[in-house]
Amino acid sequence: MNRPPLDRCTDGLPLPPGDDLDSVGPFVIRCVYALPRDGTDRRLGEDGTISRSLSAMQAWFAAQTGARLRFADEPVRTVRLPETDARIADRGSYVRDRIERLSRRQGFHEPRTLYAVWYDGSSTISCGGGAWPPELRGRVAALYLQGAYDDVVCAEDRFSPDGVAPEINEFKMLHEILHTMGFVPPGAPHHTRAGHVGDNHNDLMYAGDPPWNPSVIDPYHQDYFRTGRTDIPDLARSSFLDPLPAGAEPPPVW
Ligand SMILES: [Zn+2]
Repeated sequence: MNRPPLDRCTDGLPLPPGDDLDSVGPFVIRCVYALPRDGTDRRLGEDGTISRSLSAMQAWFAAQTGARLRFADEPVRTVRLPETDARIADRGSYVRDRIERLSRRQGFHEPRTLYAVWYDGSSTISCGGGAWPPELRGRVAALYLQGAYDDVVCAEDRFSPDGVAPEINEFKMLHEILHTMGFVPPGAPHHTRAGHVGDNHNDLMYAGDPPWNPSVIDPYHQDYFRTGRTDIPDLARSSFLDPLPAGAEPPPVW
């Protein structure tokens, strides 16, 4: 697959600090299918689309890293946000922030929880967005399934048909989840464009001018996975991995 890379996905307005210091539970990623107030419910949380996507993400991630991500063992939740598609899209670069604020008001602010949100609404800026702590605090990694910008129509991006082979929507969601976990850190040698690497268009976290063809996670271990460095966050030490690594670290400022 060759497509314009995700870019500008870490623009946003930071949220206040969370309440995780008092929590002792495991870190977990919860899956949410979110609709704007006037959006068409395509039941992606119930028809297996998101569950298959999750399975394909886990299989690919495990093949790359030897670990799985700590997705909650629970059904996909569906939430309707109390604002119209147009009003949310009017936020421009801050659609993700708005989704996070609106969903928090509806109870989606559990401790030690990262929310993977498939938002069935539009954006004129991007097909997705992530937090990027510590610069951009937040707990929501989102895809904008009806986004459209430049020549990109996000609705044309495919989901895994079989829960095994990842398609572009699986790579996009993993990309936004890793942003929300704090990757790529600014201290990484190939860091560029607020949370991306610029040297390899096959990297999951790539952004740049040549098209994105995601197939690997930091294959030379230079930037964010098994770098051997302790001065910058490393995916191999993340508290969101299962099995939990020795010396597991939460994302910055969690
Ligand atoms: Zn990005």
